[in-house]
This record gives sequence, structure tokens and C-alpha cells, in this order.
Amino acid sequence: MPPAIQILFLIGNLDAAKVDANVSLKLSQLGLKLDENLAINNLRMILEHARSRNRRVRIDMEEAALVDVTLDIYRRLRYGEGFSNVGVVIQAALYRSEADVKQLIEEGAWVRLVKGAYKEPPDIAFVHKADTDANMVKLIYLLLSETARKNGVYLAVASHDEKVISATRAFAWETKIPNTAYEFQLLYGIRRDLQEQLVADGHLVRIYVPYGTAWYPYFMRRLAERPANLWFFVNNFFRR
Ligand SMILES: Cc1cc2nc3c(=O)[nH]c(=O)nc-3n(C[C@H](O)[C@H](O)[C@H](O)COP(=O)(O)OP(=O)(O)OC[C@H]3O[C@@H](n4cnc5c(N)ncnc54)[C@H](O)[C@@H]3O)c2cc1C
Repeated sequence: MPPAIQILFLIGNLDAAKVDANVSLKLSQLGLKLDENLAINNLRMILEHARSRNRRVRIDMEEAALVDVTLDIYRRLRYGEGFSNVGVVIQAALYRSEADVKQLIEEGAWVRLVKGAYKEPPDIAFVHKADTDANMVKLIYLLLSETARKNGVYLAVASHDEKVISATRAFAWETKIPNTAYEFQLLYGIRRDLQEQLVADGHLVRIYVPYGTAWYPYFMRRLAERPANLWFFVNNFFRR
């Protein structure tokens, strides 16, 4: 079944199960690398369906070569066609992201901030992890600023990094931002202890759950982020 149709079914299943959930998708899943218009038409169909069911749709961010086209398509659907139920993702690893964040703040966008799952060349991305981590915190401060919130920005901090999470919590506490003004997002099954702790502390937490048949690229990205997962996978695969 084509991914766009799987997503329509998914939205129906979420309704049937009465789950408080949004949908995340990748434009390359919708045909972006074959034909931009195909991806736009698929996305429009999904956004219409999601809007009629009161659900939001997040466009994941893929490799750097797709950032411009992803943001263009996001803006075309969000502002050109008035879909207020669509949001985007920004990757702290890219140098360009500060400028992108500033633009998205002016627009009052719905933004998920991540470190970035793709290996990018040093002319466009930070080489050292510590620099990406520092940029992540810097962008969180911008996206939680009074100006951003006044413009309607809603931030999702998608990370398992306790330092990033603590910096977010401390900034929100110091500047008196209520817990409901932003949310944390974590991957299904990763740092469950942290997920439960955040909920226990009164934070909004959304879990990213993979869905559908195209599991292989997802699995490979998670391995690339943390090669130790290969041992975890092999160990569990052969366990009876
Ligand atoms: C909800 C969500 C949506 C995302 N969407 C995108 C997207 O659209 N585009 C994109 O490029 N990236 C996306 N990512 C991935 C993201 O860019 C990072 O690659 C990933 O989150 C790891 O970075 P980190 O912030 O957790 O920090 P890290 O410093 O990488 O990790 C901190 C700690 O978290 C744990 N951890 C992190 N990753 C794993 C893992 N795979 N397995 C086991 N433990 C782990 C480890 O304990 C690690 O020490 C998403 C991540 C999340 C949580």
C-alpha cells in the first residue's frame, strides 16, 4: 500500500482508538525524490484528511539537500493554502538553522527541534557533537522566547539528552513559562525512565512511534545515532 494511503488509514485508526496523537511523515515517503508535485499533492490530501479529524501533521526533516524544498513545501501548504495543522522540524546540527529558526519565529510556526540524524559535511554542519548540543540549547532559548510565544510558536524539544532537557526546564522555570507552553518528544522505547520522570514532573511528553512497513531506513538511522543499539538488537533477536 502506498505510504500516503497508509497514513490516511493511520489517522482513521487513531480516531477509532481515540488516541491523542499527531502524525509525522517524510516528504520523500510521499514521492518528493520522484516528483515534487506528487509529494505536494499527497501531503495536501493527508492534511485535508487530518484537518477534518482535528489532527496535526508534522513534516520530518531529512538530509540537508532536502531542507530548502521541505521548508518551501511547508510554507506553501501552511501559508499559501492555509493549512494551520502542519508543522516542521529544524536540526540544530546545521549552521543555517539559526536563520531558519528566526524566520519561523516571525511566522509563529509549530516547530520540533532535534539535533539531526543525518551525517552532513563540515561546510554546512557542526563537526563536533558539543557544538551541536550548544546550538540546540541556543535555539531552544530562541524558540521559547517571549517574542516567539507571542507570535504563536509552539516548541517540541525532541531529545533524550538530559542536559538539553534540563536546560529547557531551567529556562522555562526561570522565565516563568508554563509547562503546557511546550512539549518534550522522545522515541518509543528509548529512555523510558526519563519519559516517565518528565510526565511525573508535570511535563507534556509525546512519544514518536514508527508505523508502517518501511521499517528498514528508520532502523538504520537509529543504529547510526547509537551503534551500541546493534548489540542490543542482536542480543534480543536471538533471545528465546
Ligand atoms: C521525537 C523525535 C523526532 C525526531 N525527528 C527527527 C527528524 O525529523 N529529523 C532528524 O534529522 N532527526 C530526528 N530525530 C532524531 C534526532 O535528530 C537525533 O538524532 C536523536 O534524537 C538523538 O539525539 P538526542 O537529542 O537524543 O541526543 P544524543 O546526545 O544523541 O543522545 C543522548 C542520549 O540519549 C540516548 N539515545 C539517543 N539516541 C538513542 C538511540 N537511537 N538509541 C538508544 N539511545 C539513544 C543515549 O543514552 C544518549 O547518550 C528525532 C528524534 C526524536 C526524539
